[in-house]
Amino acid sequence: MWLSVTSDLIAKLKGLGAHRVALQFPAGLKRKAAGIAGGLREAGFEVIVSGDSCYGACDLSLDTLRFADVLVHFGHAPVEDRPDVICEPWPVDFDISVLHNALPLLRSTSISLVTTVQHAHLIPELEQYLRSHGIDVLVAEGSGRTPHRGQVLGCCFTAAKAGPTPEVLFVGTGVFHPIGIALASRKRVVALDPLTGRVQEVTGHTLMRRRFAVMEKARGVETIGIIVSSKTGQQRMELARRLAALSPRAVVVMMCEVSPDELLNLGFGAYVNTACPRLAYDDQVRFPVPVLSPQEYEILSGARSWDEYTIDEIS
Ligand code: SF4
Repeated sequence: MWLSVTSDLIAKLKGLGAHRVALQFPAGLKRKAAGIAGGLREAGFEVIVSGDSCYGACDLSLDTLRFADVLVHFGHAPVEDRPDVICEPWPVDFDISVLHNALPLLRSTSISLVTTVQHAHLIPELEQYLRSHGIDVLVAEGSGRTPHRGQVLGCCFTAAKAGPTPEVLFVGTGVFHPIGIALASRKRVVALDPLTGRVQEVTGHTLMRRRFAVMEKARGVETIGIIVSSKTGQQRMELARRLAALSPRAVVVMMCEVSPDELLNLGFGAYVNTACPRLAYDDQVRFPVPVLSPQEYEILSGARSWDEYTIDEIS
């Protein structure tokens, strides 16, 4: 069945004078595509659905705009302003009382509260719950790639670093974000999965041990590919050029999808990733050769000290 499309989205599309509309969904929402496309057709729009993979608002399907007036990207907040793209949130609710599970693990009464975009609408209620339990909560204002209050991304932990709080409470699923927060902020991190109720203290120690092993493997390789993404929200050409200048063995390689097969075919001894930072950290086991973060490559090149090791973020 067709899904009803919010009057708010229809008003935004009409406000932009759109007749042809392209839709893009991340993996978890792709099954909504047919229903939403049908709802928009019923409302009088011509619709194209992007069938390509999509990892974030950094990964806009801009090709569709050759055939559509506006691209509607579902499930993420914008990482860049574009007049022909609408980012439609997909909020996910949970029972706020699950915060009770986190209280015993908090050591401080002054904490930062952060979450991911799908729960950002619950921040005021989360703040209120924590304050009613005697906790002084700091929620950073949204800015840049993370426009919502208290929002973090896998490539941007600004909201967790803000302020003098010694501790961060991350409310969300998975451990990558809290590990990134620990490394980026150097604060104690408690992670609460609001869907399972599981709570744990998270550190960056295990990730750092794994990364040091990858760096050792990259030491002394004869050729280095500096990967630059052609996706607009991940493209860091200036950084890539600066990194390539650190060694005559390094060459900039531009790619859209960074896959193990393509890295193998290209044949470099190691790569430095300036595309989505999570590629190097999450996917190293899939890659045939070491894939370093920019900061790791700077350490191997002598341009950064070990004490300055940090997680890669896109600012
Ligand atoms: S660059 Fe990676 S972590 Fe950042 S928004 Fe895109 S997919 Fe997410």
